[in-house]
Amino acid sequence: MKVVLISPYEIGRQPFALAEPAAWLKQEDFDVECIDLANQPFEPSIFADARLIAIHLIMHAGARLAAEIIPQISKEAPNASICVYGLYAPVNDAYFRSLGCEYVFGGEAESDLRSLCQALREKHPTDEFRLTRNSLDKQEFITPDRSSLPALDQYASLRLADGREKTVGFVETTRGCKHLCRHCPIVPVYAGVFRVVSIDVVMQDIRQQMAAGAQHISFGDPDFLNGPGHARRIIERFQSEFPGTSWDATIKVEHLLAHTKHIEYFATNHCLFITSAVESIENQVLEELEKGHEEADFYQALELLRSLGISMLPTFVPFTPWTTIEGYLRLLKAIVRLRLVNCVAPVQLSIRLLLPHGTRLLESEHRHADWLGEFDSQMLGYQWTHPDPLVDELQVRIQDWVMDAEQDGLDRQKIFTGVWKLAYSINGSQPPALIQGVQPHAPQMSEPWYCCAEPTALQMSQISTATIPAV
Ligand code: SF4
Repeated sequence: MKVVLISPYEIGRQPFALAEPAAWLKQEDFDVECIDLANQPFEPSIFADARLIAIHLIMHAGARLAAEIIPQISKEAPNASICVYGLYAPVNDAYFRSLGCEYVFGGEAESDLRSLCQALREKHPTDEFRLTRNSLDKQEFITPDRSSLPALDQYASLRLADGREKTVGFVETTRGCKHLCRHCPIVPVYAGVFRVVSIDVVMQDIRQQMAAGAQHISFGDPDFLNGPGHARRIIERFQSEFPGTSWDATIKVEHLLAHTKHIEYFATNHCLFITSAVESIENQVLEELEKGHEEADFYQALELLRSLGISMLPTFVPFTPWTTIEGYLRLLKAIVRLRLVNCVAPVQLSIRLLLPHGTRLLESEHRHADWLGEFDSQMLGYQWTHPDPLVDELQVRIQDWVMDAEQDGLDRQKIFTGVWKLAYSINGSQPPALIQGVQPHAPQMSEPWYCCAEPTALQMSQISTATIPAV
């Protein structure tokens, strides 16, 4: 029986969430095809004879692309059943069912996918799989099968501060998260639970990606230090087997400060940079998001990493219902003062809070807030309007500027200068001279990280033009 696994978009990473179920299904002798639409064309012929087509929805942008391609898939494969799985599937089940999906699974989906495929092959009833499933059961992970995915050099690469590029292998050591940040799309699905991939499987995955040309390993866990001992043991094994190979991970500010001994160990073991979801420097906003850190903690974590020679790449959600123009200017000034201009991907300066179904932000009094609009099923999020129209206008202007400037190939300091001018002039002020001083360069991925954000219209059109054929 033929099964097609599809990833619409995953910020330049070779998707573990295709490679892992592919391994499970091949073990059961299913004929599995993987398509990563971020790198491969939409070939109608691939759907011929498929019995199940399963689409992974890990990101908001990817989920919206999936909604665009599902009608085409149904047309090309009228006899196949369609399944969606991953973070954005269970919270949007009604919408995806309305598009023709029969099966909806959550984040820990491998065993459900395998059982469904077995039932379809044996022609057993599949009624039990038709209700939305959001299993958090521990999966017995095996070495992911990456053989039918595009080569690693087709994915995001690492750009070093000196301009050299490295091929990147993307590895996951955990899924889910033990925290409950109120804006995070992981929380409605995992509800404070995380699951561990065994060290042996992680090492097998690293080995196969190193053999496939990886020169740097990027740990793509939502937070690498959810299981600090697990992370430490992985780095010990990884560095003993591939000494000197650089790596990066995503670690929250709170964990950076709570696990300094591990961070010191990482620094002496070739950790190149840490992506950290700082989100805001306004304590009121950080409280709303229940981020678990305050402004001062961010500065302390930055100082810690710098003292150890690790670059921090902070990410932000600068546009929220609680943003003020003054607060946004304060953020820009802090980025200059902290010499982070080259460490912050310009898209981070334009990100607007995403409110997906199930977001904890709407568990509170905000459910009745004046700024909150209706749920927009096509946008897969609640609409919201800032109480101060100037803030929304500034967000749109900055988003447009960043997109245009990046398309024109402007460097980060020039883009930042444009953002600075826009932010100051939004209420008619004369922008003060921007003295950037020495802004160190940091290593960065060729495709910037963003997650808890609405993709812009241009981002959507760029991704979808690359992905979806004209009809
Ligand atoms: S924002 Fe980060 S730390 Fe918070 S719940 Fe999400 S993944 Fe976990």
